[in-house]
Amino acid sequence: NLSEKLERSFKLLKGQGKITEINIAETLKDVRRALLNADVNYKTAKTFTEAVKQKALGADVLNAVQPGQMMVKIVHDELAQLMGGESVDINIKGNPAVILMAGLQGSGKTTHTGKLANLLKTKRGKKPLLVAGDVYRPAAINQLQVLGEQIGVPVYTEEGNNDPVQLAKDGIKHAKANGYDLVIVDTAGRLAIDEQMMNEIAAIKKAINPEEILFVVDSMTGQDAVNTAKEFNDRLNFDGVILTKLDGDTRGGAALSIRSVVDKPIKFVGMGEKMDALDVFHPNRMADRILGMGDIVSLVERAQEQFDAEEARKLQKKIAKNQFSFNDFLSQIQQIKKMGNLKDLAGMIPGMGKAIKNMDFDDDAFKGIEAIIYSMTPDERENPTILNGSRRKRIAVGSGTNIQEVNRLIKQFEDTRKVMRMMTKGKNMGRMMQNMP
Ligand code: GDP
Ligand code: MG
Repeated sequence: NLSEKLERSFKLLKGQGKITEINIAETLKDVRRALLNADVNYKTAKTFTEAVKQKALGADVLNAVQPGQMMVKIVHDELAQLMGGESVDINIKGNPAVILMAGLQGSGKTTHTGKLANLLKTKRGKKPLLVAGDVYRPAAINQLQVLGEQIGVPVYTEEGNNDPVQLAKDGIKHAKANGYDLVIVDTAGRLAIDEQMMNEIAAIKKAINPEEILFVVDSMTGQDAVNTAKEFNDRLNFDGVILTKLDGDTRGGAALSIRSVVDKPIKFVGMGEKMDALDVFHPNRMADRILGMGDIVSLVERAQEQFDAEEARKLQKKIAKNQFSFNDFLSQIQQIKKMGNLKDLAGMIPGMGKAIKNMDFDDDAFKGIEAIIYSMTPDERENPTILNGSRRKRIAVGSGTNIQEVNRLIKQFEDTRKVMRMMTKGKNMGRMMQNMP
């Protein structure tokens, strides 16, 4: 992938004291080759490397103290520029604001209809209504209903109506009549570009005149992503792109190519299957990611949202008084789970991505622990010292585990409690936790 290739070419430069004109030329050639391999078209790649070269010469890289790092920064900034430079916000001013989702089957339209509603509801105070416009497959309607339920957003459907144009119109009417200020219309996709699909989505566009048309595209599809983007844009003149499945192996090549081919901003990136795995697209951070630096800023932001400072302070008090209980332990686990798939998060830490790629490292890791704690009485959770042999046996049976697992968890819990207490004596734990991760 692009990142690895660039990484390799920068190894030459990174941390090196002095470089020569010859290896700048080599590096630029590598960069260009890497871009071409990542489906960036030839002209863009050429312009890009030329711009980097000019900047490098202008910045007098050859005489710089750390030429390698300087080159990385120049390439980084140029990459960010290629992806638009700045984040571009979504248009949701109308009442109701109408968003139309377009894209091939499997690109992630339905999933991102849910994620987007969730984000605009929780972060922008919107009251969304979803329209299940993939009318041909009952499973697709059901999929959206399940997601709607998860995020507490209603889904508009009509029994027996298999005209998506009419359904979309009715959905908007329903939204107006019932005080919804945002309508997101999911649509049917095909596996490849096909005239019927294009006609249909164009007809929906014409009928509902959406404020925002978002083209949803799977970042793993390489050159195809670019072709598809071009065809959809020619037909729909969409407003923005949602680049999905960026939690997978690809590291953003598609972001470069799509932007350079259709010149429409990428507005969001999909980072996993869960409803909160949606981030606003930041060209800067994507450039970091493409260069393999890890998307630290996104990681920190997500962690901070979940571990709010107030919680941390309360916890600190409890720890200091040795009142940290199994209930607190449980809520800690739930907080970690809320942060999304652990693998998604760990993948953003530089160097971690590769190490954990093949590990089975998800919520299941907590299932046994949760089961054991759920099998405790409220009293036992607050006062773990009363957990004698017969209580432990009962908990083992109740949780479907065994006595060894229960003992192990209690031991771990007590050790943790001890360590936490020791730390609060020495340092201000509250402040430490606020500065996490
Ligand atoms: P649609 O046919 O365009 O509606 O696509 P779906 O929303 O049904 O998504 C197809 C598959 O991709 C589903 O299994 C989703 O769970 C999965 N998916 C969608 N977005 C993401 C993402 O950002 N990351 C990952 N890992 N999977 C995704
Ligand atoms: Mg769908």
